[in-house]
Formats: sequence, structure tokens, C-alpha cells
Amino acid sequence: MRALTFVDTGRVEMADVSRPSVEDPTDVIVRVTTTAICGSDLHVVNGRIPGMVSGGILGHEFAGVIEETGPGVRSVKPGDRVLASFTIPCGACWFCKKRLFSRCPDQRVFGYGMFLGDLNGAQAEYVRVPHADLCLRVIDASMTDEQVLFAGDIFTTAYDCAVEARIEPGDVVVVQGCGPVGLMAVQAARAFNPSVIYAVDTVAQRLEMAQGFGAVPVDAAAVHVPSHVHDHTDGRGADVLLECVGAIPALTGAIDVVRAGGRISVIGVYSEPEMEFPLNLAFVKAIDLKFCGTANVVGRWDEALALITSGAADPASIISHRLPLDDAVRGYELFAAREAMKVVLTP
Ligand SMILES: [Zn+2]
Ligand SMILES: [Zn+2]
Repeated sequence: MRALTFVDTGRVEMADVSRPSVEDPTDVIVRVTTTAICGSDLHVVNGRIPGMVSGGILGHEFAGVIEETGPGVRSVKPGDRVLASFTIPCGACWFCKKRLFSRCPDQRVFGYGMFLGDLNGAQAEYVRVPHADLCLRVIDASMTDEQVLFAGDIFTTAYDCAVEARIEPGDVVVVQGCGPVGLMAVQAARAFNPSVIYAVDTVAQRLEMAQGFGAVPVDAAAVHVPSHVHDHTDGRGADVLLECVGAIPALTGAIDVVRAGGRISVIGVYSEPEMEFPLNLAFVKAIDLKFCGTANVVGRWDEALALITSGAADPASIISHRLPLDDAVRGYELFAAREAMKVVLTP
């Protein structure tokens, strides 16, 4: 079968590889019908997430049709259209029993290399999905692949960040960073009825998209963001900030943007081992700083899917490029160059 494979740091290629087969009783084989390139695929390619070996298949956002099921699979059957979670928790440990699936010590991720379960990814014609009963959902017949696709990763990731922020009706919310996850965070935050969502970025096209999703755009290149937010909140600052950038200045800056007692929920990826932190300011302001880590997709995707099915959220609206799987390398180039907001591939 055809698949997008890792070659070396910074390099991917299309290759012919062998088709996966059922290895464990709870496995299914999915024929991939739609898959996407995620920002974290770039982290794998550029080595920020270590452990990928040459020839490994990338990709973890996908939908498809079940081709084959292992003997222990109960909830899905061959022919079912399914959406997959990008993470595969074990389903049996202390954390999984408490539905803290993303804290599972045995959690695996498709296409993330040997340190995260050594699972091949889904930018391919077929993919093996372990723990299928837990990690697949049958797609509602009224929904297209594209409509539900991001509930398996970036939309539910953003929703998880919004839930962890405990947004209350009437809150002033700031979404910091309007890449794909930030734009999803704007859509997710809307579900909690804030009075306003300020969307912060420096790229005009991203700010326009955020505005289209109901946010008030704030161009961080043109205004001082903390002053701007304070000016619009009687000098208090925002109630909640969703940090979707994943860069140290963004994190420390967030402390200036929120009000005393404000909440910061962090979904941007931080891989730096340490940083300087405005400790006294954070203490005095009584900042509630919550790191979301890997999002609890399996614990929260049913709620996220309900937002999509009801029309309250439309994650597919950020798709900018649709390419055949065989053009996946070009898709990576467009995405890495930020010429594409979101690339969807069709095997
Ligand atoms: Zn992802
Ligand atoms: Zn577990």
C-alpha cells in the first residue's frame, strides 16, 4: 500500500509498504478514506518529538471504513464508517478507569515513533487501530468525514483546553494563537457563552478566520495585547486565556493579559526543559495556571462531536487544501511554509 513515511529529520516521502494486519484481539484494520496533516506531525518530522525511525508511517487524524476486526472487538464491525482518536489509551489502568485517558502511562499515539507506542500512522491506505472499542466512534450517517475528522484530534484538543479553563457564561476569553488549534479553541470557547472572545495572532489571514468564527481579532503586531485587553475590561484583564501558541514569551505574557485570579489553560506544546517565570507576579495575582498536556480526546470527544453534529461548531471550515495522498509530501511543504491552514489527504 501507499504511505507517507519518515526518512530522516526534516524529510518525508511516499513509499510502498506492506499492509497492516490484526495483531491483537482488540485491533481493527481501517481503510483510510480521509486523513489530515497535524501541527504535531511537523514536530515529529523536525525531531521535536523524538523516536521516529526511518520508514515509520506518519499521521494521526483520520476517518475510514472498517476492513477487518479482531475477535475481541464488540462495538464496531466491517463496513462501519469510523472516526479514530489520535491517542490510544490502555482502557484498563487507574487513570483510564477514572476517564483520565490522556494521563494513561501506556498511552500510544499513531505515527509518533517508538517512545509513544511504536504505532504506524494513518497517512496511508490502511492503518491498524488497537483497542478499537475505546478508540473508534461510528460516524453519524448524516456527517461527512471532513465534518467530524478534527474531533479525533485538534477540535477535541481545543475543547479540552476550554473545559479545563472552566469558562463561565459572560467571561471575557482570550485565545492566544490562531493556528489550527487556536481557531478550534475559538469555536470550542463559544460553546461556553463567553461575553467576548479576543483572538490574538500576527497573521492577518488567521485573524480574519477567527473573526469569521465570532472572535474579536487582536493583531499582536499592531497593539500591546495586555494593554488592549485591560482597556476593554475596565482595567481588570481577561477572565480566561487559552494558550495555543506553545512559546515561552506567550506563556509569560499570558500572566499580564488575565485579571487577578484569572485562569490560563495551556494547550500549546512546550518541550523546553525550563524557563524563567514571573513567580512573584503570578503569586500576587493568584493566577490559576493549568497545563492540559496531551488532551483527553477519548474522555471528551463525544461532547465535542455533539457540538459538531448540532452545528454549534464547524471544524472543517479551516481546511484550506485537499490533496490526494500521493501528494502528501507537497502537503507537508505547504503546511510547514504556513501556506496551508489545514491539509486533508485522500488515499
Ligand atoms: Zn495532532
Ligand atoms: Zn490506561
